[in-house]
Amino acid sequence: MLRNKQCSAVEILNDVNERIDKTENNIGAYLSFNENSLLHAQTIDELLAKNEELSYLAGIPIAVKDNISTKGIRTTCASRMLENYIPPYNATVINKIQDAGMILTGKTNMDEFGMGSSTETSFFKPTHNPHNTDYVPGGSSGGSSAAVAAGESILALGSDTGGSVRQPSSYCGVIGLKPTYGRVSRFGLIAYASSLEQIGPIGKCVKDVAMLQTIISGYDKYDSTSCAHKTEDFYKLLKADVKGLKIGILKEYFSSDINEEIKNSIYNTLSILKKNGAKLKVVSIPMSVYALNSYYILASAEASSNLARYDGVKFGYRTPEYNNLSEMYIKTRSEGFGDEVKRRIMLGTFVLSSDYYEDYHKKAKKMQAVISNEFSDILKDCDILVSPTTTDTAFKIGERINNPIKMINNDFLTVAANITGLPAINVPCGKSSKGLPFGMQFISNKFNEQLLLNTAYAYETYIDGFDFGLKLD
Ligand code: GLN
Repeated sequence: MLRNKQCSAVEILNDVNERIDKTENNIGAYLSFNENSLLHAQTIDELLAKNEELSYLAGIPIAVKDNISTKGIRTTCASRMLENYIPPYNATVINKIQDAGMILTGKTNMDEFGMGSSTETSFFKPTHNPHNTDYVPGGSSGGSSAAVAAGESILALGSDTGGSVRQPSSYCGVIGLKPTYGRVSRFGLIAYASSLEQIGPIGKCVKDVAMLQTIISGYDKYDSTSCAHKTEDFYKLLKADVKGLKIGILKEYFSSDINEEIKNSIYNTLSILKKNGAKLKVVSIPMSVYALNSYYILASAEASSNLARYDGVKFGYRTPEYNNLSEMYIKTRSEGFGDEVKRRIMLGTFVLSSDYYEDYHKKAKKMQAVISNEFSDILKDCDILVSPTTTDTAFKIGERINNPIKMINNDFLTVAANITGLPAINVPCGKSSKGLPFGMQFISNKFNEQLLLNTAYAYETYIDGFDFGLKLD
């Protein structure tokens, strides 16, 4: 409509802002708003009026998780530690979306430093699930998924260290993609566990997600782990076809712990894919049951190292009263970090300590290699692997926040993609009898985001578009 001059970028932004005015009080998806969004939308309209050649997402609003650095706009990681931090530079993905002419609406709520699965560990406030505000939106990118589901933005960026794009997308009934490790620059993403995390797009239809993934992909000289792999135009190459596609059903991920409604809905989806020519087989990855244990050791170890920089000297919060340097460090970190972050720092320091390194961290690294080998063996025979994204639908706010083990178990199905670096996508798959959405997960070989998107697109086309979102008035 924008390209055909049936509407303007300003009108789209006004629409989104109207939704924000209507729903944000009940949802709480945002931590701050971009004061210059209207100005940017006007600039795009002027360029469009001059028939300038612009990217396909020029003029489209996007919300960004608050651990992605935005020059001049507060970036907090939902932590007291960074409550007043204003980055002096942009993350590479921010430069990319701005060059593409996208309109930043604001920064979204999250679990503190990405640690959590419900957005409840945010220092500022919880975010509510737009499908039922008594429930969590998932996490840690809960603000981003909730914003898209509630129509408070068209697209969003999240980050996924152990499932934080896919899990909230499952709980909120939207699409979320975790790209191959190295596909998207992490420069300017405030680090939690650097070897596991990627920034990924969240949207309501596959085309949108394919466009955004195309824009943010590519080598970046400022991120030494970014890959020089060729970036295709995922959108232009989208194909709704699964003929001959070999789909492996991950046996261990359909265990008795998984909600029956979710399993049945996925079986139903698989029968649709089969009818359209996909070939199904059940495959096993026995060691993947240790993925969760390995993940929490590796992620905490990296977190304890990455978060050492918050010392009250170089960044962020400093305690107002102290008598000496050591007291300043202790008080600053005790007051600046929340409980979940402290738990990770302590666990990470423990598994890296000289007495326990061999027993924990080294074993987790070995297990990472074993699991990676299992996945690459299976992916020699299968094009796509399928599983539920989450063991259940969203839980109630407050229900698990004091039970860290239960919260952690929640990540059982998503962490393997981070440990192995493989790309994975959450695709909406249905709604439970309680009216809460859930998704399924596709995993493919490294750098084969195109196949993930094509499979999701094929499914979306066969069922005539996803209808699990909220009915927006
Ligand atoms: N829930 C997981 C954790 O707390 C994943 C978080 C993430 O992907 N950022 O570590």
